[in-house]
Amino acid sequence: MRKWIAFLMTAMMMIAAVSCAPASESSSQAEESSAAQESSAAEESQVEEDSAAAENSAAENEGASEFTTATEGVLTMATNAEFPPYEYYEGDTVTGIDVEIAQAIAVKLGLTLQVEDMEFDSVISAVQGGKADIGMAGMTVTEERLEEVNFTESYATGVQVIIVTEDSDITSADDLFAEGANHTIGVQLATTGDLYTTEDIEAAGLGTVDRYNKGADAVMALKNGKVDCVVIDNEPAKAFVEANEGLKILETEYVTEDYAIAVSKDNEALHTAVDAALQELIADGTVQSIIDKYITAE
Ligand code: GLN
Repeated sequence: MRKWIAFLMTAMMMIAAVSCAPASESSSQAEESSAAQESSAAEESQVEEDSAAAENSAAENEGASEFTTATEGVLTMATNAEFPPYEYYEGDTVTGIDVEIAQAIAVKLGLTLQVEDMEFDSVISAVQGGKADIGMAGMTVTEERLEEVNFTESYATGVQVIIVTEDSDITSADDLFAEGANHTIGVQLATTGDLYTTEDIEAAGLGTVDRYNKGADAVMALKNGKVDCVVIDNEPAKAFVEANEGLKILETEYVTEDYAIAVSKDNEALHTAVDAALQELIADGTVQSIIDKYITAE
């Protein structure tokens, strides 16, 4: 059933991608014509060159004025920097895959990136309320979220996995759904791990879901014997298991999902611009090279 939903989501993203194609085409045409402008300006005298440059930047500003951002000239990204390797702290700075992709999008749009770290639970409302321009937090596209925000094309895939202690009697996902099962499952509040287990396990009377603000706190609860397992995305799961002895990730996966960027439904121009920039970065291999920098293939 989850696979079916995932398939549906993928199909929807494909339709979205197709319907967005003209937008990215027109933006690359705009780039071409501005490049042509630039090269013809180079052949003219200095004065003309200056006025061509002025025209060029006017043209850029015109493009930029098609969309508005929370702060002029700034792309504000709402995230939850508890999700390595997508977003996490290195010293005082938030870094990771999402931050680097957002940075590349900001450059394409002529904006400066600003990262706002907040609870995962607040990311969508920050975007909805216009406090942030984009929400990027290893965020899965779900039907519920699609009612609240727009999503770009997907730029990465996530898998919900199950972390247990090495001596756990839970050996596969099926154990969580077995008749008479009664496990306590740790999740990060409002993530898909929370949504799925709440629906599939708690509502079905097969166990209890304990919700933590940070994935790392859920993992601590597992170490301390307060929960029997943690359902969380595979990449942070790997980082948490590496950092904590005595834990392992079960081989059976819970569900596969698509990560995308959330943009307000009230800012369609920004959604189009961010989506077009992302699609260009996917097409030219930038997104893959950023992902490869952080995630080494097994
Ligand atoms: N992919 C999960 C979700 O979208 C978890 C994201 C996160 O914890 N940052 O709910």
